[in-house]
Amino acid sequence: MPKSDRPAGLVAELDNALYDAIMTRVLLAEDDPAISEPLARALRREGYEVDVRADGRAALEGANENPDLVVLDLGLPYVDGLEVCRRIRADGRSVPVLILTARADEVDLVVGLDAGADDYVTKPFRLAELLARVRALLRRHPTEVGSAGAVVRIDPDGRRAYFNDEELQLTAKEFDLLRVLVREQGKVVSREQLMREIWETAWFGSTKTLDMHISVLRRKLGDDAAQPRYIATVRGVGFRFERDGKG
Ligand code: CA
Repeated sequence: MPKSDRPAGLVAELDNALYDAIMTRVLLAEDDPAISEPLARALRREGYEVDVRADGRAALEGANENPDLVVLDLGLPYVDGLEVCRRIRADGRSVPVLILTARADEVDLVVGLDAGADDYVTKPFRLAELLARVRALLRRHPTEVGSAGAVVRIDPDGRRAYFNDEELQLTAKEFDLLRVLVREQGKVVSREQLMREIWETAWFGSTKTLDMHISVLRRKLGDDAAQPRYIATVRGVGFRFERDGKG
């Protein structure tokens, strides 16, 4: 459901945080409503939350909200899709990008060269084909973050995590915690959200369990609790997985 349609208030805010955490969010950047409207409907039917942006500047703002996948039209007003894709990569984001293009001859430029897109679909496309590409990208794309010269990679399907290509030995809860922090990389994740998403429990003040798991995770990442490089404590709020590039 779009953010504007959700209920307001403090409890609703917590619900929204949880909702954002569990939903797969797709950023759809397309200026032609004849394409974006049916496509957004189809993606929502698949269970994704869809954020539609009709120009390149708005698409870049949308990318800052850490979507799980970007569907990107090349011909966008203000900032074209190619440049949007380059800037997403320049910000250090590894989110999968699926390009929509009317011109097959543009494709090499986008996927092969420096723009860093993952796949493309040429217009006009069949909805079923596009949805299949979306599913494939979401499946195969591991969540990854470059932090303080190290790379942490999450394989959500295999429930494995890697630190500089070495597999981390994590308990189920430690894995879930790392997965959420890496997914929300660069953003503060509140204690409330972590408690609710990982321990499926309402938050009544004590987050000792959470703190314990954070400290074990730091140790397994070789991080120093006094001066953590990867998992920062944000006093009174929660934790943030630091990411290289744009801080
Ligand atoms: Ca267009």
